[in-house]
Amino acid sequence: MSDLYQMLGVERNASQDEIKRAYRKLAREMHPDVNPDPKVQDRFKEVTAAYEVLSDPEKRSQYDRGGDGFSGFGGGFGGFSDIMDAFFGGGGTPRGPRPRMRQGQDALIRTTIDLAEACFGTTREIGVETAVICEVCGGDGCASGTSPRTCEICKGRGEIQQVTRSFIGQVMTTRPCGSCQGFGTTIPQPCRECSGEGRVRARRTVEVKIPAGVETGNRMQLSGQGEVGPGGGPAGDLFVEFIVEEHDFLIREGDDLHVSVNIPMTGAALGTSVTVQTLDGDVELTIKPGTQSGAVIPIRGKGMTRLRGGGRGELFAHIDVEVPTKLSKEEEQILKKFAELRGEKSLASQVRKSSDSGLFSKFKEAFRS
Ligand SMILES: [Zn+2]
Ligand SMILES: [Zn+2]
Repeated sequence: MSDLYQMLGVERNASQDEIKRAYRKLAREMHPDVNPDPKVQDRFKEVTAAYEVLSDPEKRSQYDRGGDGFSGFGGGFGGFSDIMDAFFGGGGTPRGPRPRMRQGQDALIRTTIDLAEACFGTTREIGVETAVICEVCGGDGCASGTSPRTCEICKGRGEIQQVTRSFIGQVMTTRPCGSCQGFGTTIPQPCRECSGEGRVRARRTVEVKIPAGVETGNRMQLSGQGEVGPGGGPAGDLFVEFIVEEHDFLIREGDDLHVSVNIPMTGAALGTSVTVQTLDGDVELTIKPGTQSGAVIPIRGKGMTRLRGGGRGELFAHIDVEVPTKLSKEEEQILKKFAELRGEKSLASQVRKSSDSGLFSKFKEAFRS
Protein backbone atom coordinates (compact mmCIF):
# COMPACT_ATOMS: atom_id res chain seq x y z
CA MET A 1 0.00 0.00 0.00
CA SER A 2 1.66 3.21 -1.05
CA ASP A 3 1.61 6.32 1.07
CA LEU A 4 -1.62 8.28 0.67
CA TYR A 5 0.11 11.61 1.25
CA GLN A 6 2.64 10.81 -1.45
CA MET A 7 -0.15 9.88 -3.82
CA LEU A 8 -1.62 13.33 -3.52
CA GLY A 9 1.82 14.94 -3.43
CA VAL A 10 1.33 16.67 -0.09
CA GLU A 11 3.24 16.76 3.21
CA ARG A 12 2.02 14.72 6.16
CA ASN A 13 1.12 17.91 8.01
CA ALA A 14 -0.81 19.37 5.06
CA SER A 15 -3.96 21.33 5.92
CA GLN A 16 -7.39 20.24 4.69
CA ASP A 17 -7.25 23.12 2.22
CA GLU A 18 -3.93 21.93 0.83
CA ILE A 19 -5.19 18.36 0.49
CA LYS A 20 -8.31 19.52 -1.28
CA ARG A 21 -6.31 21.72 -3.62
CA ALA A 22 -3.84 18.96 -4.44
CA TYR A 23 -6.68 16.58 -5.25
CA ARG A 24 -8.51 19.07 -7.41
CA LYS A 25 -5.35 19.80 -9.34
CA LEU A 26 -4.82 16.08 -10.00
CA ALA A 27 -8.49 15.62 -10.80
CA ARG A 28 -8.30 18.28 -13.46
CA GLU A 29 -5.33 16.58 -15.08
CA MET A 30 -6.65 13.05 -14.80
CA HIS A 31 -10.35 13.58 -15.39
CA PRO A 32 -11.73 11.04 -17.90
CA ASP A 33 -12.84 13.88 -20.20
CA VAL A 34 -9.28 15.15 -20.33
CA ASN A 35 -7.30 11.94 -20.20
CA PRO A 36 -9.23 8.76 -21.07
CA ASP A 37 -6.08 6.57 -20.94
CA PRO A 38 -7.07 3.52 -18.80
CA LYS A 39 -3.72 3.61 -16.94
CA VAL A 40 -4.33 7.22 -15.94
CA GLN A 41 -7.88 6.33 -14.93
CA ASP A 42 -6.60 3.54 -12.67
CA ARG A 43 -4.22 5.97 -11.00
CA PHE A 44 -7.01 8.49 -10.73
CA LYS A 45 -9.09 5.96 -8.82
CA GLU A 46 -6.21 5.41 -6.39
CA VAL A 47 -5.72 9.14 -5.96
CA THR A 48 -9.44 9.54 -5.36
CA ALA A 49 -9.42 6.77 -2.77
CA ALA A 50 -6.48 8.50 -1.05
CA TYR A 51 -8.37 11.76 -1.09
CA GLU A 52 -11.44 10.10 0.36
CA VAL A 53 -9.41 9.09 3.40
CA LEU A 54 -7.33 12.22 3.87
CA SER A 55 -10.21 14.65 3.34
CA ASP A 56 -12.10 13.10 6.23
CA PRO A 57 -10.48 14.17 9.55
CA GLU A 58 -11.59 10.99 11.30
CA LYS A 59 -10.35 8.60 8.61
CA ARG A 60 -7.19 10.62 8.29
CA SER A 61 -6.30 10.38 11.96
CA GLN A 62 -7.00 6.66 11.88
CA TYR A 63 -4.69 6.35 8.89
CA ASP A 64 -2.05 8.46 10.67
CA ARG A 65 -2.20 6.08 13.63
CA GLY A 66 -1.39 3.16 11.37
CA GLY A 67 -4.75 1.98 10.06
CA ASP A 68 -5.46 1.71 6.37
CA GLY A 69 -8.16 4.36 6.65
CA PHE A 70 -10.37 2.49 4.25
CA SER A 71 -12.45 0.41 6.61
CA GLY A 72 -14.46 0.74 9.76
CA PHE A 73 -16.35 3.85 8.89
CA GLY A 74 -19.73 4.15 7.40
CA GLY A 75 -21.38 7.22 6.02
CA GLY A 76 -19.67 10.06 4.29
CA PHE A 77 -18.71 9.41 0.74
CA GLY A 78 -19.80 6.07 -0.58
CA GLY A 79 -16.90 5.50 -2.92
CA PHE A 80 -15.37 6.50 -6.18
CA SER A 81 -18.54 7.20 -8.11
CA ASP A 82 -20.01 9.32 -5.34
CA ILE A 83 -16.90 11.41 -5.08
CA MET A 84 -16.83 11.80 -8.85
CA ASP A 85 -20.42 12.95 -8.79
CA ALA A 86 -19.60 15.48 -6.12
CA PHE A 87 -16.90 16.98 -8.28
CA PHE A 88 -18.09 16.48 -11.81
CA GLY A 89 -21.62 15.19 -11.79
CA GLY A 90 -22.63 12.62 -14.32
CA GLY A 91 -22.77 8.87 -13.82
CA GLY A 92 -25.20 7.31 -11.38
CA THR A 93 -28.42 9.10 -10.70
CA PRO A 94 -29.89 11.52 -13.19
CA ARG A 95 -31.53 13.38 -10.31
CA GLY A 96 -29.94 15.07 -7.36
CA PRO A 97 -27.64 18.00 -6.88
CA ARG A 98 -25.88 19.33 -9.92
CA PRO A 99 -22.13 19.61 -9.65
CA ARG A 100 -20.41 22.91 -9.12
CA MET A 101 -17.41 21.74 -11.07
CA ARG A 102 -18.09 21.26 -14.75
CA GLN A 103 -16.06 20.73 -17.91
CA GLY A 104 -15.04 24.01 -19.52
CA GLN A 105 -15.79 25.00 -23.10
CA ASP A 106 -13.54 25.05 -26.11
CA ALA A 107 -12.19 28.38 -27.31
CA LEU A 108 -11.39 29.50 -30.85
CA ILE A 109 -8.88 32.11 -31.90
CA ARG A 110 -7.76 33.12 -35.38
CA THR A 111 -4.30 34.19 -36.35
CA THR A 112 -2.97 35.63 -39.60
CA ILE A 113 0.31 34.52 -41.12
CA ASP A 114 1.99 35.34 -44.41
CA LEU A 115 2.66 32.89 -47.24
CA ALA A 116 6.32 32.33 -46.31
CA GLU A 117 5.32 31.49 -42.73
CA ALA A 118 2.68 29.11 -44.07
CA CYS A 119 5.32 27.46 -46.25
CA PHE A 120 8.09 27.05 -43.71
CA GLY A 121 6.15 26.99 -40.43
CA THR A 122 6.69 29.41 -37.60
CA THR A 123 6.22 29.96 -33.92
CA ARG A 124 3.66 32.53 -32.81
CA GLU A 125 2.97 34.03 -29.44
CA ILE A 126 -0.79 34.44 -29.40
CA GLY A 127 -2.63 36.43 -26.78
CA VAL A 128 -5.75 34.62 -25.61
CA GLU A 129 -8.34 35.60 -23.06
CA THR A 130 -10.04 32.68 -21.35
CA ALA A 131 -11.36 31.70 -17.97
CA VAL A 132 -8.54 30.36 -15.83
CA ILE A 133 -8.58 28.71 -12.45
CA CYS A 134 -8.90 31.19 -9.56
CA GLU A 135 -5.56 30.99 -7.79
CA VAL A 136 -6.94 32.40 -4.55
CA CYS A 137 -9.46 29.64 -3.84
CA GLY A 138 -8.04 26.95 -6.10
CA GLY A 139 -11.36 26.71 -7.93
CA ASP A 140 -13.86 25.81 -5.23
CA GLY A 141 -15.10 29.38 -4.84
CA CYS A 142 -14.76 29.41 -1.07
CA ALA A 143 -12.89 32.03 0.93
CA SER A 144 -9.72 30.68 2.51
CA GLY A 145 -10.35 28.30 5.40
CA THR A 146 -14.01 27.78 4.53
CA SER A 147 -15.74 25.08 2.51
CA PRO A 148 -19.16 24.55 0.93
CA ARG A 149 -21.90 23.70 3.41
CA THR A 150 -24.73 21.26 2.83
CA CYS A 151 -27.83 23.25 1.94
CA GLU A 152 -30.22 23.36 4.89
CA ILE A 153 -33.29 23.78 2.76
CA CYS A 154 -32.92 20.72 0.53
CA LYS A 155 -30.55 18.80 2.83
CA GLY A 156 -28.07 18.46 -0.01
CA ARG A 157 -30.46 16.96 -2.54
CA GLY A 158 -30.43 20.04 -4.74
CA GLU A 159 -34.14 19.72 -5.33
CA ILE A 160 -37.32 20.14 -3.41
CA GLN A 161 -40.32 17.90 -3.63
CA GLN A 162 -43.71 19.38 -3.17
CA VAL A 163 -47.03 17.66 -2.80
CA THR A 164 -49.96 19.64 -4.02
CA ARG A 165 -53.62 18.73 -4.07
CA SER A 166 -55.47 19.14 -7.28
CA PHE A 167 -58.70 17.88 -8.76
CA ILE A 168 -56.92 14.73 -9.99
CA GLY A 169 -55.60 14.01 -6.54
CA GLN A 170 -52.19 14.48 -4.99
CA VAL A 171 -49.48 15.58 -7.35
CA MET A 172 -45.81 15.43 -6.46
CA THR A 173 -43.59 17.93 -8.19
CA THR A 174 -39.86 18.30 -8.00
CA ARG A 175 -38.10 21.55 -8.61
CA PRO A 176 -34.53 22.71 -8.15
CA CYS A 177 -33.78 24.13 -4.74
CA GLY A 178 -33.80 27.92 -4.98
CA SER A 179 -31.65 28.33 -1.92
CA CYS A 180 -28.61 26.53 -3.40
CA GLN A 181 -29.55 26.83 -7.12
CA GLY A 182 -29.66 23.06 -7.22
CA PHE A 183 -26.06 22.53 -6.14
CA GLY A 184 -27.03 20.91 -2.85
CA THR A 185 -24.43 23.04 -1.12
CA THR A 186 -24.07 26.69 -0.40
CA ILE A 187 -20.90 28.70 -0.21
CA PRO A 188 -21.17 30.60 3.05
CA GLN A 189 -18.20 32.85 2.32
CA PRO A 190 -17.50 33.20 -1.41
CA CYS A 191 -13.94 33.83 -2.53
CA ARG A 192 -13.58 37.55 -3.16
CA GLU A 193 -11.36 37.15 -6.16
CA CYS A 194 -13.84 35.15 -8.26
CA SER A 195 -17.11 35.83 -6.39
CA GLY A 196 -17.45 32.09 -5.84
CA GLU A 197 -17.20 31.17 -9.56
CA GLY A 198 -13.91 29.31 -9.07
CA ARG A 199 -12.51 30.89 -12.22
CA VAL A 200 -11.51 34.32 -13.41
CA ARG A 201 -10.93 35.75 -16.88
CA ALA A 202 -7.32 36.33 -17.71
CA ARG A 203 -5.22 37.24 -20.68
CA ARG A 204 -2.20 35.09 -21.30
CA THR A 205 0.19 34.30 -24.08
CA VAL A 206 0.21 30.90 -25.71
CA GLU A 207 3.13 29.82 -27.84
CA VAL A 208 1.87 28.08 -30.94
CA LYS A 209 4.14 26.08 -33.22
CA ILE A 210 2.53 26.47 -36.62
CA PRO A 211 3.44 23.53 -38.86
CA ALA A 212 4.76 24.06 -42.39
CA GLY A 213 2.12 23.83 -45.10
CA VAL A 214 -1.01 25.15 -43.38
CA GLU A 215 -3.82 26.72 -45.38
CA THR A 216 -6.49 29.23 -44.51
CA GLY A 217 -9.14 27.48 -42.43
CA ASN A 218 -6.80 24.83 -40.99
CA ARG A 219 -7.21 24.49 -37.25
CA MET A 220 -4.83 23.36 -34.58
CA GLN A 221 -6.09 21.86 -31.35
CA LEU A 222 -4.33 22.67 -28.09
CA SER A 223 -5.88 20.40 -25.51
CA GLY A 224 -6.70 21.81 -22.12
CA GLN A 225 -5.90 25.39 -23.19
CA GLY A 226 -9.51 26.53 -23.54
CA GLU A 227 -11.94 27.83 -20.95
CA VAL A 228 -11.69 26.52 -17.41
CA GLY A 229 -15.15 25.30 -16.40
CA PRO A 230 -17.42 26.60 -13.65
CA GLY A 231 -16.19 25.66 -10.21
CA GLY A 232 -12.67 25.32 -11.61
CA GLY A 233 -13.64 22.36 -13.83
CA PRO A 234 -11.22 20.90 -16.39
CA ALA A 235 -10.47 23.29 -19.23
CA GLY A 236 -11.78 22.79 -22.75
CA ASP A 237 -9.49 22.87 -25.77
CA LEU A 238 -8.16 25.87 -27.59
CA PHE A 239 -8.49 25.84 -31.37
CA VAL A 240 -6.21 28.10 -33.37
CA GLU A 241 -7.46 28.78 -36.89
CA PHE A 242 -5.04 30.08 -39.49
CA ILE A 243 -5.63 32.76 -42.06
CA VAL A 244 -2.91 32.85 -44.72
CA GLU A 245 -2.49 36.29 -46.28
CA GLU A 246 -2.40 36.63 -50.03
CA HIS A 247 1.06 37.18 -51.45
CA ASP A 248 1.88 40.17 -53.64
CA PHE A 249 2.72 38.07 -56.69
CA LEU A 250 2.71 34.37 -55.78
CA ILE A 251 -0.64 32.66 -56.24
CA ARG A 252 -1.26 29.50 -54.23
CA GLU A 253 -3.10 26.52 -55.60
CA GLY A 254 -2.94 23.72 -53.04
CA ASP A 255 0.71 22.80 -52.68
CA ASP A 256 1.74 24.60 -55.88
CA LEU A 257 2.51 28.23 -56.51
CA HIS A 258 2.11 30.27 -59.68
CA VAL A 259 3.94 33.39 -60.75
CA SER A 260 3.66 35.56 -63.82
CA VAL A 261 7.00 36.39 -65.47
CA ASN A 262 7.33 39.14 -68.08
CA ILE A 263 10.07 38.87 -70.69
CA PRO A 264 10.74 41.16 -73.64
CA MET A 265 9.88 39.97 -77.15
CA THR A 266 13.56 39.75 -78.07
CA GLY A 267 14.37 37.64 -75.04
CA ALA A 268 11.58 35.25 -75.95
CA ALA A 269 12.91 34.92 -79.49
CA LEU A 270 16.62 34.79 -78.72
CA GLY A 271 16.56 33.10 -75.35
CA THR A 272 17.59 34.79 -72.09
CA SER A 273 17.54 34.31 -68.38
CA VAL A 274 15.38 36.11 -65.82
CA THR A 275 15.49 36.40 -62.07
CA VAL A 276 12.35 35.06 -60.38
CA GLN A 277 11.61 35.89 -56.75
CA THR A 278 10.53 32.81 -54.83
CA LEU A 279 9.85 32.07 -51.17
CA ASP A 280 13.41 30.70 -51.05
CA GLY A 281 14.99 33.83 -52.56
CA ASP A 282 15.93 34.66 -56.14
CA VAL A 283 16.14 31.89 -58.72
CA GLU A 284 17.64 32.25 -62.23
CA LEU A 285 15.21 30.96 -64.82
CA THR A 286 16.50 30.03 -68.30
CA ILE A 287 14.24 31.10 -71.17
CA LYS A 288 14.92 28.98 -74.23
CA PRO A 289 15.01 30.64 -77.67
CA GLY A 290 11.54 30.67 -79.18
CA THR A 291 9.59 30.69 -75.91
CA GLN A 292 5.94 31.59 -76.45
CA SER A 293 3.73 33.83 -74.41
CA GLY A 294 1.68 31.62 -72.11
CA ALA A 295 4.42 29.01 -71.77
CA VAL A 296 4.57 27.47 -68.30
CA ILE A 297 7.99 26.61 -66.89
CA PRO A 298 8.03 24.55 -63.68
CA ILE A 299 10.56 25.42 -61.00
CA ARG A 300 10.81 22.15 -59.07
CA GLY A 301 10.44 22.09 -55.31
CA LYS A 302 9.86 25.79 -54.83
CA GLY A 303 6.14 25.50 -54.09
CA MET A 304 4.49 25.10 -50.70
CA THR A 305 5.51 22.52 -48.13
CA ARG A 306 3.03 19.64 -48.06
CA LEU A 307 1.32 19.63 -44.68
CA ARG A 308 1.06 15.86 -44.78
CA GLY A 309 3.86 13.72 -46.13
CA GLY A 310 6.40 16.51 -46.37
CA GLY A 311 8.22 17.60 -49.51
CA ARG A 312 7.40 20.65 -51.57
CA GLY A 313 5.08 21.42 -54.44
CA GLU A 314 6.21 23.19 -57.63
CA LEU A 315 6.40 26.81 -58.58
CA PHE A 316 5.06 27.40 -62.08
CA ALA A 317 6.36 30.41 -64.00
CA HIS A 318 3.76 31.65 -66.49
CA ILE A 319 5.59 33.46 -69.28
CA ASP A 320 4.16 36.70 -70.58
CA VAL A 321 5.95 38.05 -73.66
CA GLU A 322 5.87 41.81 -73.80
CA VAL A 323 5.35 43.41 -77.19
CA PRO A 324 6.88 46.90 -77.27
CA THR A 325 4.23 49.60 -77.50
CA LYS A 326 6.33 52.62 -78.36
CA LEU A 327 9.00 52.30 -81.03
CA SER A 328 11.63 54.83 -81.96
CA LYS A 329 12.14 55.53 -85.66
CA GLU A 330 15.23 53.34 -85.70
CA GLU A 331 13.54 50.43 -83.90
CA GLU A 332 10.60 50.63 -86.25
CA GLN A 333 12.86 50.41 -89.26
CA ILE A 334 14.75 47.43 -87.86
CA LEU A 335 11.50 45.60 -87.16
CA LYS A 336 10.14 46.36 -90.62
CA LYS A 337 13.34 44.98 -92.08
CA PHE A 338 12.98 41.93 -89.82
CA ALA A 339 9.41 41.38 -91.03
CA GLU A 340 10.51 41.70 -94.60
CA LEU A 341 13.23 39.10 -94.08
CA ARG A 342 10.66 36.68 -92.66
CA GLY A 343 8.12 37.43 -95.34
CA GLU A 344 5.63 38.56 -92.66
CA LYS A 345 4.55 41.77 -94.35
CA SER A 346 0.87 40.94 -94.57
CA LEU A 347 -0.44 37.61 -93.44
CA ALA A 348 -3.89 36.21 -93.14
CA SER A 349 -4.81 35.99 -89.47
CA GLN A 350 -4.10 32.63 -87.96
CA VAL A 351 -6.72 31.26 -85.64
CA ARG A 352 -5.23 29.25 -82.85
CA LYS A 353 -6.95 26.51 -80.98
CA SER A 354 -8.08 27.49 -77.52
CA SER A 355 -6.50 24.37 -76.04
CA ASP A 356 -3.20 26.22 -75.54
CA SER A 357 -1.98 25.89 -72.03
CA GLY A 358 -1.38 29.60 -71.50
CA LEU A 359 -1.92 31.47 -68.27
CA PHE A 360 -5.35 32.57 -69.37
CA SER A 361 -6.66 29.12 -70.21
CA LYS A 362 -4.99 27.73 -67.10
CA PHE A 363 -7.06 30.00 -64.89
CA LYS A 364 -10.15 29.51 -66.98
CA GLU A 365 -9.74 25.83 -66.20
CA ALA A 366 -9.32 26.58 -62.53
CA PHE A 367 -12.56 28.50 -62.45
CA ARG A 368 -14.42 25.85 -64.36
CA SER A 369 -13.52 23.10 -61.91
ZN1 LIG B 1 -11.69 32.26 -6.10
ZN1 LIG C 1 -30.67 23.49 -1.54
